[in-house]
Amino acid sequence: MFQAIINEFVNFVLPNSCLVCACPIDANESFLCRNCSSKLEPYNDVHPWQEEFKALGIIDNSLSAYWFRAGKELQPLLHAMKYRKMRSVGRMLGRDLGRLIAEMDAPPFDLVIPVPLHKAKFRDRTYNQSDFIADGINETLRIKVMTGAIKRTRFTPSQTKLDKAARKENVSDAFAVNPKHAGEIKRKNIVVVDDVITTGATILECCSALKKSGAGKIWAVSAAYAELKIDD
Ligand SMILES: [Zn+2]
Repeated sequence: MFQAIINEFVNFVLPNSCLVCACPIDANESFLCRNCSSKLEPYNDVHPWQEEFKALGIIDNSLSAYWFRAGKELQPLLHAMKYRKMRSVGRMLGRDLGRLIAEMDAPPFDLVIPVPLHKAKFRDRTYNQSDFIADGINETLRIKVMTGAIKRTRFTPSQTKLDKAARKENVSDAFAVNPKHAGEIKRKNIVVVDDVITTGATILECCSALKKSGAGKIWAVSAAYAELKIDD
């Protein structure tokens, strides 16, 4: 923790240093040294809930780019994106996701839709880090990013202390498609993106709202997969 505070300070005064280990970096490395970059752990696995959600007919596939593990290299990156508005970090993670999607047998996608923050959180933070990741996916795959298509219909309390069933209940019907955009969703193949997926309950509700509006194929993707919900 103490080291993290030191790194944060070093990064503030010396922007040409690695976000993770604070060592100096070359001009062609934007925020991560080669050593830390090589330690990011790809998530080459299948989400434990994937088959269940496919069977519900709500998603057609899901994937994450990296493992989230507390104290590991990805954590300061997610933190910088979420709390320091580091758009470039989100875009890098999004480009990585885009490359993964390109390597797979994916349908031709029409839209990338970020999971929205609730209005109250958006007001505090003024930006949604998932928008940055969506921009990165667009850079790789040239799929139009649509923000504002899904709205949170009510505030969902922090999920950290809830078990799986309670989490599902907590986000049930928490999202709705903005009626203004409903026509643009119909029959469109969509990538829905979040920064971190855990139980998948939140992104499932987003995808469910899109399906109700007649969306075509839906892939649920995230920069990171965490076994335990990260407190935000
Ligand atoms: Zn480093």
